[in-house]
Amino acid sequence: MKLDALDIAIAGAGIGGLSPAALLARGGARVTIYDQMSAPQPVGSGFVLQPTGAAVLSRMGLLDQVEARGARISRMHGRLSGNGRTVLDVGYRPGAYGIAIQRVALFDLLLDAAVKAGVGFETSSRVTGIDAGSAPRLVLEGGGRSAAADLVVDAMGANSPIDTRVATELGYGALWATVPWPTKGVFRPDELEQRYRRASQMAGVLPVGTARDGAPAMATFFWSLRNQDHAAWKSAGRDAWLEAVRAFWPEAETLAAAAEPVHARYRHLTRNPIAGRNTVKIGDAWHATSPQLGQGANMALLDAASLCSALCREATIGDAIGRHLKQRQMHIRFYQLLSRVLTPFYQSDSRVLPLSRDIFIGPATKLPLVRSLITTLVTGELLDPVGRIELDRLQPVTALDTDDRSALA
Ligand SMILES: Cc1cc2nc3c(=O)[nH]c(=O)nc-3n(C[C@H](O)[C@H](O)[C@H](O)COP(=O)(O)OP(=O)(O)OC[C@H]3O[C@@H](n4cnc5c(N)ncnc54)[C@H](O)[C@@H]3O)c2cc1C
Repeated sequence: MKLDALDIAIAGAGIGGLSPAALLARGGARVTIYDQMSAPQPVGSGFVLQPTGAAVLSRMGLLDQVEARGARISRMHGRLSGNGRTVLDVGYRPGAYGIAIQRVALFDLLLDAAVKAGVGFETSSRVTGIDAGSAPRLVLEGGGRSAAADLVVDAMGANSPIDTRVATELGYGALWATVPWPTKGVFRPDELEQRYRRASQMAGVLPVGTARDGAPAMATFFWSLRNQDHAAWKSAGRDAWLEAVRAFWPEAETLAAAAEPVHARYRHLTRNPIAGRNTVKIGDAWHATSPQLGQGANMALLDAASLCSALCREATIGDAIGRHLKQRQMHIRFYQLLSRVLTPFYQSDSRVLPLSRDIFIGPATKLPLVRSLITTLVTGELLDPVGRIELDRLQPVTALDTDDRSALA
């Protein structure tokens, strides 16, 4: 299908909304993004782009800039607090690596790419529903409607108001903060380092590079917290928290001392990706999970690339959506299941699951075959999600036309 014949409305300006917007507009489609924010902005701290997400960014022409801002990660390593025993040690296969990046850094690059590709933005536009039909429209708060579109994409994340299936909120969330990278000390600039006590306490330090050229290197520090304990944590005050961090992981205390943490809650849900004719959900609006497996942002990029390549290949929107779902569904179902099964080993009140994790999983990761399987699993590459998408059908988002942020309403 020729993209320049298409009018596309995208709800949500996160990773899942900006990346298809940039790709589709680059291919000639007229794309408008609607977001509830008064100006597009990222939410959250940092995460690891796996080779799956990096393959999409590479095809978009953004990987060099992502690499320049992010930090290369070669190993994910976890020890028990107390005796210091290693219970997780996952490396990448030779030549491969993750890229840990601040959310704001990736967001800025995607936003620039979208603006420069000619995407229109309608900010302060809260979407409440979809007017279904062969030319669907977004329904906006206050009763307004978007212009009729050939395709509507719901990229409004886990709290999308379209198909309000109740998401299972997990009992554990976490405090997240972006803090200066400690140049002196025990932390390695190419490792995600974690500490555990049973499954009820977990903390991590991830080097995440710089927000923009010339900015200082930073780290993401996270500290797990039961949602029901958040109020008590707040009223106990900062000193009590720092004391808890010191007791649990002394080397991380300086990071906690610099933190202005934000509490994140996690949801697990898989929605029907079709919300009406010519209407499709991508990213967390389709499938949200806890971040234990660290796949969400990568999945959103894969969804975006899959939808765009299917649109380039098929003659009708319906066929393109069908192809896109075929390309993505198995990978998503598998990782959703895996995330449901594995999360309680790392975040739950169970005493049995973390014990079996420490006795069996930790040592098993040293066996070459298991190690290679776990590596493929953690990097998101099981079931070959990139190979299923014809990335070469996508127009790279390079050779930019304009540099005009005034496109943002
Ligand atoms: C604490 C935390 C840590 C994570 N760590 C990792 C990790 O290490 N690796 C990884 O790959 N993933 C990680 N994830 C998951 C990842 O962040 C998400 O999967 C990814 O951001 C999903 O992108 P999205 O665009 O689908 O949704 P979102 O990023 O949620 O974006 C949704 C957008 O829609 C807008 N919106 C919402 N509702 C409306 C509305 N009604 N009207 C208009 N606009 C609306 C919002 O303003 C927002 O801009 C983590 C998530 C969290 C919370």
